This record gives sequence, structure tokens and C-alpha cells, in this order.
Amino acid sequence: MQVTQDKVVQIDYTLTDAKGTVIDSSKGRPLAYLHGARGIIPGLEKELEGKSAGDHLQVVVPPEQAYGLHDDSLLIYVPRKAFGKRKIEKGMRFELTAEHGTQAVTVVSLQRETVRVDANHVLAGQTLYFDVKIVSVRDATPDELSHGHAHGAGGHHHP
Ligand code: ZN
Repeated sequence: MQVTQDKVVQIDYTLTDAKGTVIDSSKGRPLAYLHGARGIIPGLEKELEGKSAGDHLQVVVPPEQAYGLHDDSLLIYVPRKAFGKRKIEKGMRFELTAEHGTQAVTVVSLQRETVRVDANHVLAGQTLYFDVKIVSVRDATPDELSHGHAHGAGGHHHP
């Protein structure tokens, strides 16, 4: 069975950056996703299209097809007060409450009254290197199609 729209695909993967540093891995517990539902980054989904269980591939995904380019307008100044009494250091990651919910940010620099944070995705601007093995491919169930994600092992679990 081939990977096409509305199939549930299980993959084992290792994600590394340009230097070969491992960023993420399924660690032998395959990830299940619903193909065509944008459950994984577009550049990876596109390369898996038409492949079959047992296929092993190396995929290089440019930032535009992954987490986007680094957007300088997302480097923002936040008053120190917003962090409460927490000790703040460069490189720390925080969840800030913004207009549309919470936003993960990274501290870039510190001033007396303000903290400059980067609200880009941590992988924005990065080319991603995937080593992917397709473990299984099956038809999605009606429930999975209506939810827009895979259920079961490696997929979404409902409480
Ligand atoms: Zn569901």
C-alpha cells in the first residue's frame, strides 16, 4: 500500500540539523500521522507521497517547507515585569501569554527594564535533515478522517 491522501502512516525518524546534531527522533516508537492532513511539516509529507512500507529515505527540507524563515519582526521587547520574579538568562525559553494564547519565546538579550525575546519557532530558518523509515501504511478509519489525525499507536490519544 502506498502513501497517499487519507492513509495513516507510521514512520520511524531521526531529525538532524546541518551540523548533524540530533534534534528529534521517534526512538523506535513510530509516529503515526494522517497523510494529507498537515500533521507533519509540508516538505516531509511531500517526499513521503507515493512511498511504501519498508522504504527508507533521506529527506532534506528547506526552512520554507519546514518551520518557515526566521522573521526579524518576531524579535520583540517585553517588559521585565512580564516575567515576574523569575531569574532570566539569555537562551532561556518561556511561555508568554499573548493575545491569541500562549507563545513560546527564547530570551535573546537583557536590558535593565526590558527583555528581548525571539518568538520564532526554534527551528525557523533551519534546513532539516530527516532519516525516515516507513513502518506501515493503512487506510484511515472514519473517526480519524473526521478528526483530521491518526489514532492508536504513535497517534493521537483521547482522554
Ligand atoms: Zn481524534
